[in-house]
Amino acid sequence: MDYLKKAYCMNKTVRIFSCITTDMVSHYQKLFNMWPSSTIAFGKTLTISAIMGCTYKSGERLNIFVKGDGPIGKITVEATFGNVRGYMENPGVYLENNNGGINITKAVGAGEIEVIKDLNMREPFSSSSEIIEGDISNDFTYYFTKSEQIPSSVGLGVSLNTDSTVKASGGFLIQIMPGCKDEYITELEKNLKELKPITQMIDEGYSPEDIINEITKGDYELLDEIELHHNCNCSKERFKKGLKSLGKTTLEEILNEDKKVDIKCNFCNTNYHFDEDELKEIILEM
Ligand SMILES: [Zn+2]
Repeated sequence: MDYLKKAYCMNKTVRIFSCITTDMVSHYQKLFNMWPSSTIAFGKTLTISAIMGCTYKSGERLNIFVKGDGPIGKITVEATFGNVRGYMENPGVYLENNNGGINITKAVGAGEIEVIKDLNMREPFSSSSEIIEGDISNDFTYYFTKSEQIPSSVGLGVSLNTDSTVKASGGFLIQIMPGCKDEYITELEKNLKELKPITQMIDEGYSPEDIINEITKGDYELLDEIELHHNCNCSKERFKKGLKSLGKTTLEEILNEDKKVDIKCNFCNTNYHFDEDELKEIILEM
């Protein structure tokens, strides 16, 4: 079961979120038949999105896009408190580094990260930042620091088995809160320099608490534990609304020409079929 742990350190002026997302990344890898570069880029994006969802209140929604010009194309993730769902443009990408490792920076390419926040206000907020590296971790570190003005550090890792299936996935987000003393920041920076690479920790089976322990050298105060899920909330009713938004004329054309319509949910691959009678009924309701 995937879950997240939240903790404070440095006299409550630094907050840390750490999570394991192995189940959800495996789920999506199988669902969309993702190749190695695609799996890692998507898995990292899904993980940071799951963390970001937990930094907001229940009922608030984030839409997170990684829009690079590399072969994997756009990654789309929707995150709420404790739940994420997502998909990517091209799941079939496998690029190798010169040393034989799996490349994701070229696979992601250059472009921007965009986050649209629906915080139940009148208008959703949108913020964005440049993709500076394409490794996702440093790109989100840059996003938080530049777009949200919160000095942060992001570490994300996806480790694959020799047959390319997901072995483990997870990561952390560290955020410096207002009032944090310089000496705390110096200490934290020192810890981060000495920190094992996150992919190695994930690969070695570290739990969220193990990761927090490693970052803080044991000096932390645990807060909440939050279960993480990857449920899709699509329904036939929702797609029916979408059909209605096409307008009566278009629906009548579909009815006359095809006598049916099939719509697939991008997030979970579920197919929704509307037959002739259902289409007629929808048009009547309009
Ligand atoms: Zn769905």
